[in-house]
Amino acid sequence: MKNSCECEDNRVYVKEDLVELIVREVQEILQKDYAESVLYKRSSNGLPLIPLGISNRHIHLTQNTFHKLFGENIEFESMRPLYQPGEFASKHTLTIVGPKLRSIPNVRILGPLRKYDQVEVSLTDAIFLGIDPPVTNSGMLENAVPLTLVGPGGSVYLDKCAIVANRHIHMTNKDAEIFGVRNGDFCKVKIGGEKSTIFQNVLIRINDNWLLQIHLDTDDANAANVREDTYVEFLGKM
Ligand SMILES: [Zn+2]
Repeated sequence: MKNSCECEDNRVYVKEDLVELIVREVQEILQKDYAESVLYKRSSNGLPLIPLGISNRHIHLTQNTFHKLFGENIEFESMRPLYQPGEFASKHTLTIVGPKLRSIPNVRILGPLRKYDQVEVSLTDAIFLGIDPPVTNSGMLENAVPLTLVGPGGSVYLDKCAIVANRHIHMTNKDAEIFGVRNGDFCKVKIGGEKSTIFQNVLIRINDNWLLQIHLDTDDANAANVREDTYVEFLGKM
């Protein structure tokens, strides 16, 4: 078998070069398709449309709190990866209990484990539980309110853990340049459809490991009558 070929441009490629060339071309096509299909669907204003992620109530824990709730020998395990690289829905759930002893079971812990304990709920959840959490950025727990977490290995009362997460958009520095925004800016977005809605005070969060995505909680998504197969239009800074 010949170990080289003469291609259209009359250059002679050895077999290894050809394989490399084909791999590179396939990669380029896949990347281009991906960019066009997901990241750079354009809206009428020429800017990329932003894929929607809907955050149901969920929990972030430290390793220490995880072990108090599940036992020292239980390992923290992933059930399925989330859209954002490195993040996952774990196999583990807890019951959250408010001050009136009303509780919500099967609240999932998201991974990886963090440096703080945090429970993100919707306002609907908060009213049901009888708590009044602040609307704030993830990780800003100064005004967060207490909840009790109950697991199979124990329970923990957390003094400052419950918040309603800010609406926010995850993006890279490259995306930020395209949209003309900076980390910490607030912006407006529009969702189309039968219950078309404009959301204001949407926080910009930048990290080069992230994929472009807006996160709304279930109250906001339900108000606009949308599911996760939705794209959101960027309207500009506040
Ligand atoms: Zn998010």
